[in-house]
Amino acid sequence: MVREIMLPFDTALLEVLVDMVFIVKVEEDFTFTYAFFNHVAIEKTNLDQNAIGKTFSEVHDEELSILLNDEYGKVLNTNKTTTYEDSYKSPSGIRRYSEARLTPLFDKTGAYTHIVGVVKDVTNEKVAKLESEDSWNKLVESKSRYRSLFENNTDAVFTTDLSGVILSGNTAVEKISGYSLDELKGRALIEFLDTSDPVFSIKSFQQVLEYGLNDQRITFLEKLGASVSCLVNFTPIEVRDKVVGIYAIVKDLRELDDMSNKFVESEKHFRIIAKNAQDVIVLINDKQEYLYVSPSSNQIYGYDSTEYTAKSLSWHVHLEDVSRMEQNFVQALREATTCSIRLRIKHKLNGWLWSELKATPVYDARNKFKHMVIIIRDITLQKKHEEQLEYFAYRDFLTNLPNRRFFTDQLLMELDHFQNGGNGFTVFLLDIDHFKGINDQYGHEIGDCVIIEFGRRLCGSIPKDAIAARLGGDEFILLLPKVETAELAKETAINIQRAMEAQWSIKHTTLNVTASMGISLVLSTEATVSTILKNADNAMYDAKKSGGNSFEILYNR
Ligand code: GH3
Ligand code: MG
Repeated sequence: MVREIMLPFDTALLEVLVDMVFIVKVEEDFTFTYAFFNHVAIEKTNLDQNAIGKTFSEVHDEELSILLNDEYGKVLNTNKTTTYEDSYKSPSGIRRYSEARLTPLFDKTGAYTHIVGVVKDVTNEKVAKLESEDSWNKLVESKSRYRSLFENNTDAVFTTDLSGVILSGNTAVEKISGYSLDELKGRALIEFLDTSDPVFSIKSFQQVLEYGLNDQRITFLEKLGASVSCLVNFTPIEVRDKVVGIYAIVKDLRELDDMSNKFVESEKHFRIIAKNAQDVIVLINDKQEYLYVSPSSNQIYGYDSTEYTAKSLSWHVHLEDVSRMEQNFVQALREATTCSIRLRIKHKLNGWLWSELKATPVYDARNKFKHMVIIIRDITLQKKHEEQLEYFAYRDFLTNLPNRRFFTDQLLMELDHFQNGGNGFTVFLLDIDHFKGINDQYGHEIGDCVIIEFGRRLCGSIPKDAIAARLGGDEFILLLPKVETAELAKETAINIQRAMEAQWSIKHTTLNVTASMGISLVLSTEATVSTILKNADNAMYDAKKSGGNSFEILYNR
């Protein structure tokens, strides 16, 4: 819209305006020079009276003068009132925002003479708008953040009104309850809770809130009838300081309960095992302090579990076994393996008990040592059995004399001793004459008794340092250390014959028992076990050939 020019200006009116007013003259070359500006313009810009009659480029920097020429030029081009927005820094350095309205003035001939620019300071409005946009953005962001927290929360979050009627919920709500959100909406939350739980001696939802049931265990009744053990928290929803609803945050504890039950179960199993074990179960820490001693310690070693408190690990271990035990522990820790040792542990009343100790280091998930599990067993009986086994391994079960195995070991030792400067010796091989006949005539039982009695008489007729063994059947063997002459050997052979000549009365049966003896005199260190036995065998064969009840001597020279 174009107005008719009103000149001269009513400057007084313009001075009372709060907006900046600029009047610029349109020069013939269509440049613009300042013709007037009011005091508000002087205050808010860097213009002063010196700018009157000057062009934009003469008083402003390049950027602003281009902008002003542009905007003022538009008025001439469009022949219309135009507006534009601008921002600038005030003399005090604060950024200000303005809205300019440019109106052309023309003379009676219709030629442009001036343009009136009324520039309104819109800084306050603009700042308010910018702030509100910023707040809005922040609100949107925070809202979406909270929504995501709500939606993606693994705990079920129910939103209820103040009377506990479900208004909404997150996805976990459907998971925990088995109901869809639509099925839940509009129903009272308390309908889904097992009110027979002790915490629900109070029945109404309001009361639930009043009593502040936070971190309480409750049972959620899910759609298919399962009872879901949960932990619940009620949080008020406040809008402008007013409680408008409730968030009920329900945590499903099934998995946690399951784990905890398993732990309790395994702990229970451990206690049962430890209590009923025939072994003593001990746990020690890295300082070798007792953490646990099973009650079986009383039954096995006579000490009550409490008697181990503050004692060193080796307090009732035999002094000679302590360092071996410690070395084994160090190795078990270094190699993360079980060590097994035999040692003597003192019983409170019965002295030392041979025991077997097995120690296994236990590490946590990060491979850090947790404790050592030690299982101690009384092996006194086992040791006894082992000794018996060893004994039987070298004994003849019928006569209880040493057997061939034992005799061969002794013979080897004696030969070794001889070859290393010791004395020569003699070996006797004996075989009962016509023993088959005894068996046949009187039976095996009598035969056995003859073998036993033969062994007994044999042992009674030989030197003290001699060894008598049964080789098997009716065959016996003797080792006579230091017997290096045929005379000495003969002496023993005659002694044996005399012993056998005495009357044999077995189970009311009178018998005549004789034996043939092959004597192998070991006088050379070149002899071997094989040549010695071979000679004894040959000599015995000769004795048998001569009709029995006799002996023959062969020399190992
Ligand atoms: P010889 O005069 O030549 O020695 O003949 P023998 O009848 O004594 O027979 P021989 O020494 O060759 O055999 C020993 C027999 O002893 C063979 C077997 O029947 C018997 N015998 C082997 N072991 C036992 C045993 O443990 N108890 C009994 N009763 N008899 C045994
Ligand atoms: Mg025989």
